[in-house]
Amino acid sequence: MARMIRPLANLYEQLRRLPGVGSKTAMRLAYHIIDMPEGEVRQLASALMGAKDSIHYCTRCFNLTDGDLCSVCADSARDRHTICVVEQPQDIAAMERSHGYNGLYHVLHGVLSPLDGIGPDKLRIRELFLRLQQEDISEIIIATNSDVEGEATATYLAQLLKPVGITVSRIAHGLPMGGDLEYADEVTLSKALENRRAM
Ligand code: ZN
Repeated sequence: MARMIRPLANLYEQLRRLPGVGSKTAMRLAYHIIDMPEGEVRQLASALMGAKDSIHYCTRCFNLTDGDLCSVCADSARDRHTICVVEQPQDIAAMERSHGYNGLYHVLHGVLSPLDGIGPDKLRIRELFLRLQQEDISEIIIATNSDVEGEATATYLAQLLKPVGITVSRIAHGLPMGGDLEYADEVTLSKALENRRAM
């Protein structure tokens, strides 16, 4: 079998690194991109770079934004006394789609995972406590996923937050066990929030 020409192999290898893209899909995408009109390929390349260059973390909650504050933190109509703690920015997108929550968020950017060397210092926990000093927060809702790491992180946070003296609750994962928040449908997520329990 003839070897793939180098630029094509390079494109294939980059695509192959994306999550959920197996070797067959990467190959199909690589050939598809080569077949695309040049203008469209340029648009794709510039969208990739544009997103990477302009998107960074909200200085308050670590959600994604292209400004200083994210759209949630900048919205004066939000309830500023509640913070919902999530693992990733995409969890905020899922919560927002459910229309069941009107408070603020805080993104940990991961979960505790001792086997992978991810301890509390690798998460945005210190920043959360800083917010508790600076903002008038009365409740923290922990909405990490319901898998082992998500539960361990929730328990860890709840213990850490106990001395602070604010209400700490955990969303009722009516989600399938081990289910990711990101993939939960809107009704399930709304209910999970509604039926949160104190920790
Ligand atoms: Zn924010």
